[in-house]
Amino acid sequence: MRNTRAIALLSSLFATLSAFAQPAPQPPSQPCPEIRDVLVTNGKIHTLNTTNTVVDSVRIVGDRFAEVGTNRLGTSRCTRMIDLEGRTVVPGLIDNHNHIVLLGLRPGHDTRLESAASIDDVLNTLRTKAATLPNGEWLTSIGGFDINQFVPPPGAPRFPTLAELDSATPNHPVFLQLSFAGPSVTNTLGKQFFEQAGIEIGADGSIAGGFQTPNPTTRALHELRQRQTLADQKRGTQDAMRYAASLGLTTHLDEGGFPATGTAADGAAHMDRYRGYDALLALYAESALTNRIRLNFLHMETDVATPELAARLANVFPRFGDDLLKIVGIGEFTAGASPIIGEATEVWRAGTRRVAEAGWRNENHSLTPADFKVIIDEWERLNAALPAPGIRQQRWVVAHAPFITQEYVDKLKALGGGVSVLGGWRYISGTAQQNGPPFKLLADSGIPIGMSSDGMQISPMNPWIGLYYVVTGKNARGEVINAGQTLERDAALRLYTAANGWFLKEESLLGTIEPGKYADLAVLSADYFDAGAVPDEAIKSVRSVLTLVGGQIVHRDPDAL
Ligand SMILES: [Zn+2]
Repeated sequence: MRNTRAIALLSSLFATLSAFAQPAPQPPSQPCPEIRDVLVTNGKIHTLNTTNTVVDSVRIVGDRFAEVGTNRLGTSRCTRMIDLEGRTVVPGLIDNHNHIVLLGLRPGHDTRLESAASIDDVLNTLRTKAATLPNGEWLTSIGGFDINQFVPPPGAPRFPTLAELDSATPNHPVFLQLSFAGPSVTNTLGKQFFEQAGIEIGADGSIAGGFQTPNPTTRALHELRQRQTLADQKRGTQDAMRYAASLGLTTHLDEGGFPATGTAADGAAHMDRYRGYDALLALYAESALTNRIRLNFLHMETDVATPELAARLANVFPRFGDDLLKIVGIGEFTAGASPIIGEATEVWRAGTRRVAEAGWRNENHSLTPADFKVIIDEWERLNAALPAPGIRQQRWVVAHAPFITQEYVDKLKALGGGVSVLGGWRYISGTAQQNGPPFKLLADSGIPIGMSSDGMQISPMNPWIGLYYVVTGKNARGEVINAGQTLERDAALRLYTAANGWFLKEESLLGTIEPGKYADLAVLSADYFDAGAVPDEAIKSVRSVLTLVGGQIVHRDPDAL
């Protein structure tokens, strides 16, 4: 009792002495208010503000950064301290184009293999995950990796075999699926299950797949999906956010999925475009979202009257939502398929016009040397036909754009547009011909550009793999495929942070560590900015040891901090 009083007296004395630098302290007898008040100190905190200021401390009050500085910042007796022990901090990373909703809907316990660099890595990752689950639970990894990364050159890329999978996970059925629709592989328990459902499985666990569906892989996927509950989808969505936070990602712009048929023809990227958001909305209602999620609605109907898109635009409030969940726009398809063969279809034109007239943000992806020209030329025509300011203030975005040219960058810039670029896709499967995007050309042009993963079907979510590709231009086979278009590390990271606020129309709230912005940050496992401490090859291995979203800890590595 006496001790308590002595401490109270001392802290009251301390509060009086330091009142100069502090907000008015409360009498010690009063409980601390519920509002968050955290001092993060003793770090190398890269604010990514316009002058690239590095500070050692930030104070968070509520869900915002209150003070950012190099001197000892103010505290009260209610301030909690986080000592960074000299670690490097960056703003929470923003992925401006991915498919985290689809990732959350994967059947089984999704086990990301994005960072595996050998068959042993794959087996160890599965073994570690299996140890956390009751026997018999499904371990799955659907999309986001390529077998290119599993076997270092000169070995030939391959999946692990059934025998190898059995050696790592004898008590859990396993299903590893490449890309949208396979091929895939399973272990003995998985083989028994799929064979009972009449699906053909190779003696080595291989399951045929490819673009033509239904195929054995999509039939296997369908079997697993049919057993999934809403509770499973909620758990999967939480796992997806947890994985993101472990990489330092705090915000995602989700780009939807292909309209599901509910049959074995559906691949990894198909989802029910109405009920596919149930798990996300349930978690939101329970205040259980640990990442910020922004939504684009994907439309690809073939009716030229675009009744679904018309209904969406008529009935959904644009930009509705709050700091955790918010609607952004239409994309990455507007209507029909985007002009993938270099021709604008009538339904795509009609849909594009509808989005412009409704004043929404629109996003289309570009994959080929021809499609971005069709998209941007049509946007230009449409803009000229609309009353001023046309689409100029709607921030329309071309995504991926591996082959975009200076001429079309300039045209898009004049339309007030931006380009979302990615690295991980080219890293896992790019070649000397399938390379790009031209990071340097885009950065030099002055058009808004920001990074995304386009995870998690054809591309990993892991932003450090994307950054490795931006900085080195190297693919998973160690070949330099994007020479002349690489960026320095700080410019590359800026594309995943400060530059991405623009893509969400939230540049005043997200992307940098500045007073008034959301207190989202990642404490890194190593100093990404120091090429001595983190050689190029080690960029891929950077992780977050502590991630905050709105000042709240959403990931912590207890071994590190
Ligand atoms: Zn996408």
